[in-house]
Amino acid sequence: MSQINVTRSSMPTYEEYCEEIKELWESRWLTNNGTKHKTLEAGLKEYMQTPNITLYTNGHLALENALNVFDLEGEVITTPYTFASTTQAIVRNRLMPVFCDVREDDYTIDADKIEALITEKTSAIVGVHVYGNLCEVDKIQKIADKYNLKVIYDAAHAFGVSKNGVSAATFGDISMFSFHATKVFHTIEGGCLTYGDSKYTAKLNALKFYGMYENGEYSEVGSNAKMTEFAAAMGLCNLRHVNDEIAKRGEAAARYYERLSDIKGIKLNIKQAGVTPNYAYFPMVFDGYKYTRDQVFEILKAHEITARKYFYPLTNTFACYKDFPSFGDKKTPVAKYISERVLCLPLYADLSISEVDMICDLLLK
Ligand SMILES: *Cc1c(COP(=O)(O)O)cnc(C)c1O
Repeated sequence: MSQINVTRSSMPTYEEYCEEIKELWESRWLTNNGTKHKTLEAGLKEYMQTPNITLYTNGHLALENALNVFDLEGEVITTPYTFASTTQAIVRNRLMPVFCDVREDDYTIDADKIEALITEKTSAIVGVHVYGNLCEVDKIQKIADKYNLKVIYDAAHAFGVSKNGVSAATFGDISMFSFHATKVFHTIEGGCLTYGDSKYTAKLNALKFYGMYENGEYSEVGSNAKMTEFAAAMGLCNLRHVNDEIAKRGEAAARYYERLSDIKGIKLNIKQAGVTPNYAYFPMVFDGYKYTRDQVFEILKAHEITARKYFYPLTNTFACYKDFPSFGDKKTPVAKYISERVLCLPLYADLSISEVDMICDLLLK
């Protein structure tokens, strides 16, 4: 029997990718806003229904630039139930994360607990659309408007997700999507920012190009975060197939739901009202089941199936933050509870129904 990993990258055929990159051998234009980059930008703008988009070499640098573009200072309210990138991007921008707990049902930031954390130093809210579950965007926007805060979404998990037909790319002031190889849509490594106000485009372009504006002046302290033509070409191929890939993920997820719903001690991801999901992950929370999360992880591992303790540990417990006295998981008990019990099962477009059944059989036996 062959190994089953928690994820498996979607890929076009070898021929399709070769065809896409062929002209790069003629043009020798390999990066810096070439044809592939421009075409992908236009395609994603339409697919994601966003008025503005800027592409990046990865999602993390996109998020760092998103925080940078608003000249934020002081404190940022966020959650520890996320990938390392979210918290690291905040700290690397010399901002202080203030951790809000998450909602027990969908693991996103608990909007009802945000106001109590706001101080005169607060400048922004950074929410994470965990597993493609959308944050309570309306509630969050109301709070942000009341206190004049920026809203930034880590939408790395939310490609293709919409709420009542409105794209996840349109919420808040700016959203970051990751196009890493493990994500629903990918460019090998890559990412983007989507935002409503076109006035940010020039600064974002400068920030990803050493701080240089079109007039040649270095008016920002920038870095290098450009997407290459080879990455953009992979994106162009994958974008052609992404709807099919999401549909195939949906079929595997439906089988998991069929097999694992209504089992005592196992909680599956909820289906949010009005939300069109992308089936990015298949998280399960084990509480009172005959095996613990860690036992299930080991049982699957013994059968060459890799599940992932995702997100574990919480970012507010990372060793690199040992000198941040306000950190730690005590103030985020729900996040701590979930992170100690959650396991993401394998889910990807090519995962067959018989493989899903085999995983379920192991879990349930
Ligand atoms: C993948 C991911 C990122 C980082 O994206 P990269 O493209 O890998 O840099 C950030 N936040 C979350 C929640 C992610 O899952």
